Amino acid sequence: MAPRPKYTPGSFTKNFAWAGTGFLRLHSVIRAGYSSTLSPVTREKWRADSGIKDSSLELIPINFFLHNKSGNMSVDELVFQAISRPHNIDFDRLSLFAFHLTQVGTPPQQGPQRPARWANEFAKEVLWKNDSWQSAALVHSTLDNFISQTMNASEDVRVKCRNNYRYFFELAGYLPTSGETINTGQEGWITPAIYLAWDRFVLDGAPKEKDTLLKYVDDEELYKLIGTSKAEFDEIAKVVVSLYLDAGATDRFASSTPAIAAPVSVKKVVTPTPATPPSAASWIDEEGSDEAVGRSLGSKLLQKRSRKIASQLRLHYKHRCMFCGTRLQIGDQRFYAEAAHIKPLGSPHDGPDKTGNILILCPNHHLQFDRGVIRLEMSGQDLKITSSVPGDALNGKLIKPKHALDDTCVKWHFDWFSDNRKPA
Ligand SMILES: [Zn+2]
Repeated sequence: MAPRPKYTPGSFTKNFAWAGTGFLRLHSVIRAGYSSTLSPVTREKWRADSGIKDSSLELIPINFFLHNKSGNMSVDELVFQAISRPHNIDFDRLSLFAFHLTQVGTPPQQGPQRPARWANEFAKEVLWKNDSWQSAALVHSTLDNFISQTMNASEDVRVKCRNNYRYFFELAGYLPTSGETINTGQEGWITPAIYLAWDRFVLDGAPKEKDTLLKYVDDEELYKLIGTSKAEFDEIAKVVVSLYLDAGATDRFASSTPAIAAPVSVKKVVTPTPATPPSAASWIDEEGSDEAVGRSLGSKLLQKRSRKIASQLRLHYKHRCMFCGTRLQIGDQRFYAEAAHIKPLGSPHDGPDKTGNILILCPNHHLQFDRGVIRLEMSGQDLKITSSVPGDALNGKLIKPKHALDDTCVKWHFDWFSDNRKPA
């Protein structure tokens, strides 16, 4: 096999702790560099206004996270997010995605001259597997091995690259982790990420055309950079491509863009995106903007998928409580059971949205489980129930689940409600 092309490290060789502020620093230099407007600026003006003038670590925002072309800093979804939204974890995750997109330098800069391309390849070849990101990919030895195969650099430089790269995952809240796979929390940033990828594709000259845009995300395997399945990604991309084009693609940032009608399927009153971005103190109304509608559609599709998983699992258990075997009848041939997430979805716990994190329970036991009155431990293939209710017959009972449970979630729940934590 021919050796793969090696990349240069670029300014990624520098350590950039960003004074401990992480992606918040990126958020604020974007705002400063563009003077809180959604207009392209020259590279020189951007550097002067952003306060970044040194030759050391601070070029990283330009070189690795932002799009610039012919001496101009472009406006894209990442810039839009920084200027029109407060800093939050979804911005950090979108920034990591932007880094993985590797639009470095003046397009069309290709091949090994694009320093961060190794990270894009790493994400697709090593980090993503079986529809999710694998924690083991981010251990030092795995990363070092990949970087030494893909980068022309001395060992100390490679170590810096590895450390900086891992640091991004810490900043985005993905490390440290005890789980085997990483829940990327994609419902919070998948639509902006797709918009961002298309923005850059269009900025580099691609036509604003549905099939071209969909083919691009397919060819680039963006689902891997998002840490999800191709099917789930495609389902969302298929919907948001129309929203993206209806919004004017990259023209949506231009102040002359007329008000955009809401997609007919969305039954809510939609106010137009403000022609000029808000000042630092007045964020766009999340509920009202067209952008927000597009984004919430992405998360609604994920919720739909989540409900589907839960309903299939209920059927699998024929609506019987896994703890007590109760099957609540609520009509002729109609039964009721609840799907309980062992580790809660969403912030702050970010439990995985998969069957291994779900129990099928009667309402009573669901309530007791959620309050930590009942806890579980894996005992070989069985689950051992511990109940803190005096005299509870379930205490010490062993049950045999009929689906594979994620033991890191089970352990998380057990630990969360142990020791100094008291049931609420
Ligand atoms: Zn029960």
